[in-house]
Amino acid sequence: MDKDIQRIRAEFPILKKQVNNNLLVYLDNAATTQMPQVVEEKIKSFDENYRANVHRGVHTLGLMATERYENVRRQVKDFIGAKSSKEIIFTSGCTDSLNLIAATYGEKNIKAGDDIVVSIMEHHSNLLPWQLLAHKKGANLKYIELNDHQELDLKDAAQKITSSTKIVAVTHVSNVLGCINPIKELAQLAHKNGAVIVVDGAQAVGHFEVDVRNLEADFYAFSGHKIFGPDGIGVLYGKEQLLNEMPPYRLGGEMIANVTRTGATWAPVPQKFEAGTPNIEGVIGLGATIDFLKDFCHIDQIKEHEQELVEYILPKLQSINGLTVYGPQDPTKRIGVISFNLDRIHPHDLATALDLEGIEIRAGHHCAQPLLQTLGVEVAARASFSIYNTKSEANKLLSGLVDAKEFFKNGFK
Ligand code: PMP
Repeated sequence: MDKDIQRIRAEFPILKKQVNNNLLVYLDNAATTQMPQVVEEKIKSFDENYRANVHRGVHTLGLMATERYENVRRQVKDFIGAKSSKEIIFTSGCTDSLNLIAATYGEKNIKAGDDIVVSIMEHHSNLLPWQLLAHKKGANLKYIELNDHQELDLKDAAQKITSSTKIVAVTHVSNVLGCINPIKELAQLAHKNGAVIVVDGAQAVGHFEVDVRNLEADFYAFSGHKIFGPDGIGVLYGKEQLLNEMPPYRLGGEMIANVTRTGATWAPVPQKFEAGTPNIEGVIGLGATIDFLKDFCHIDQIKEHEQELVEYILPKLQSINGLTVYGPQDPTKRIGVISFNLDRIHPHDLATALDLEGIEIRAGHHCAQPLLQTLGVEVAARASFSIYNTKSEANKLLSGLVDAKEFFKNGFK
């Protein structure tokens, strides 16, 4: 595996960079992953060889761009196990995908008194659209709480999801706790009660194989920039029948069948949800990313590698006096995301101290304030590992934390 990691690291030029006179140790992968050279090259090749708009006109470049763009849609379909490429909508990211569902499916199907069930560990992107919808419609927003292991409480889920529930919106993996949620069980609970399930896959795709049909997901959302791809591109998967029944989201070019002075009819899916010029570069880059993930990284090895790192570092972190790790203690229940607090050192101070050693971690509320409130804190530090991180980098984090602790206790020696 180590040889393999070196092979993978070599694809990411940024990992050779110095930050504050130290070799970069990039541990903020849950926010954004780095991009391999091959993805940049694919985007450059589009710009240099066939840059044109898609689905418009008949010239050679336009046809080439459209063909490549639609090929990526098929690639995404296979990558996440969808039935048809009509079920794949390109968006600007996971946030955009989730807002789209709330503003279309949600607007159409939620009425006063209905229940929308989310979990307490949702990122604001999979919370605020539902909060707003519930306020607007007079619906109830219910939260599935955590169990004693700081995982999703399935018993609570079984109580909260009832025949009044119309939408269950949950994250596949928590961006704070790192835990992997049992989506299939939740989907079955939702369906038994006549609800649909919306899955936020921002922290799941690219970490392990995701098969939307096996998960029985009705909607599934993710972002390119968290799976080694470009910024500003995301995916919304939706079952074709549901997408067909939904009203459009944004209105404009390319999403219509016909427009008259007084009205319009909509294009079939997926075009109905892709108004205006899409992020073509992003889509081309996403295609290269999926090739990279499948052929170069062997996606099933990614979770294994992340869990190996978590298994290695978790007990060592916990042996640092005053350090609290959040989320399940069992490494097999999580991916490479570890959030923690150290004594009374503010996570921003901790992250700044580590940055001086070239170690990049995240600090803050992680866009999951209700979760942090439940954990009894306002902020936390977060180190998130990816396929290119090594045990030696984990050791640097550990010694950086010990140094920081010493520094904030005693000041300069
Ligand atoms: N959901 C989760 C669980 C996330 O971690 C994130 C990104 N931090 C998002 C949604 C939003 O993703 P994006 O900013 O790419 O839209």
